[in-house]
Amino acid sequence: MKILLLRFPLREQNRFTIPWHLAFFKQILEPMGHQVVILDGQVDPMSTEQYVQYALDGEFELVGLGGIATCFGKMQKFSRLMKEARPEVTLVAGGHVTADIPFIMEKTRVDIIINGEGELVLANLVQALAEGRDWQGIKGLSYRAGGDIVRNPDERLLDMDELPDLDLSQLPLEKYDTSVPGYFLVDDEARRLEQAGYKALHFFPARGCPYRCTFCYRHIPKYRYYKREKLDRMFAYLKDNGFAFLVLSDECITANRKHFTTICELARKHGIYWLSNSRVNYITEDVLDLALSHNCVGLKYGVESFDQQMLDAMKKGTTVRQNIDALNLGYRYGLVVPLQLILGTDGENRDTILNTRRGVWSYWPTEDQANVAILNPYPGTPDYLLALEKGLIQDKEAFHLGLTNQNKAEMSVNFSLLSEAELKAWQWWLHVEQALSYRVKLRTWRLDRSFRYRLRRFAGAYLRLLKEPANFFQFNRYLLRGVDYWFDRPPVLQWREKFPGRATT
Ligand code: SF4
Repeated sequence: MKILLLRFPLREQNRFTIPWHLAFFKQILEPMGHQVVILDGQVDPMSTEQYVQYALDGEFELVGLGGIATCFGKMQKFSRLMKEARPEVTLVAGGHVTADIPFIMEKTRVDIIINGEGELVLANLVQALAEGRDWQGIKGLSYRAGGDIVRNPDERLLDMDELPDLDLSQLPLEKYDTSVPGYFLVDDEARRLEQAGYKALHFFPARGCPYRCTFCYRHIPKYRYYKREKLDRMFAYLKDNGFAFLVLSDECITANRKHFTTICELARKHGIYWLSNSRVNYITEDVLDLALSHNCVGLKYGVESFDQQMLDAMKKGTTVRQNIDALNLGYRYGLVVPLQLILGTDGENRDTILNTRRGVWSYWPTEDQANVAILNPYPGTPDYLLALEKGLIQDKEAFHLGLTNQNKAEMSVNFSLLSEAELKAWQWWLHVEQALSYRVKLRTWRLDRSFRYRLRRFAGAYLRLLKEPANFFQFNRYLLRGVDYWFDRPPVLQWREKFPGRATT
């Protein structure tokens, strides 16, 4: 069969994330005698009409579509145009964008959805189609039958070692961003490697996450990782091919101590510098000592809130104390730890935000930067189901299209007990307050562009709140209530006390 695998472009043109899963599909299908072309909208951006024309010109018999939920509008349009032009082409979709299967079946012209992990299911489906066999019984598929939608039982999850080896020749790597970010250059050896021409690359050493935060989409259960022998081969292969700086897109690399220790040991063995993700409940001196003495340049972790009620509502499984301790440890070790907060969880109010503001002043920041997001209940997440249950999403199509067209400042659903205008004013105030905390603690009074931008955004949101006089009054009352802890300096900590030799450029 002639197969096109298409990843739609995201709103942000990010050329750093490489679609390894598409490469795996290709590596599995081609030895079976099929011809596979990968078209990644992140590096080949086109209009939807142009993607359709590409598929028509190439005379593909099957088109595999996928991406995150923000691709819905493009997928809907592509499937309509494609079916109008050539109805016999089989459209198969998977990934986050298909999280609400009945809705996708109703509102797009996709023929088949792959539920969950795709490698085994797509191979079985393509083979059945190519041989003209019935495919309806294949595990892991959803499809229309008469007026119904059939969802077959799930296919088994792969052992990660069953996946094909990484093969850099499967993707046009020259189109991706493999430049080395400054945070990797922590010592003389890292700088030497960068000058010698070594590049940066991201890949997934594990799949899944053992946690279930309510805002996070987890369509594949369990936490699985490659065994040591395979990882050893991968690290050697990447280093031999000029990649010495790896972003390991593991959802929580510390979730399994054996896997984490393996990564550390192999990184040092192969002279590879790395960055990955963790959670505050794993950030201890023991973990950071192990990571940083084995070429780790950073472990990112989202604190989300400094209010326990909100952390519990998110099912985050962490405490405010753990958040503060993890951030302070990050400071003592000199890690790059941007503050990541989520506002607007179910029940958020002025008091819970006051606690989060207090938390912003209770730790030593490593960076003059905060990511303060307002909760978006992405399809497939527990928060999406909650929004449906509460009637906060009345029209699923408008909601999905809203995610496609939304700019970052827009809100899709408001779970909080505050008006949308007030929530946005607090969002921008938290940006400003983090910047103030940074400046007070580190005694730096930079009035740089980024600080002025945050002030401007806050001023705009604050003025818009004037249209709601009662909320404007309460906002100011709470704003002043927060000021007392500005001068409540947490115990002094020493920046990079633990690894003083390290210095990023
Ligand atoms: S937010 Fe992080 S820890 Fe929570 S479920 Fe998602 S990946 Fe796991």
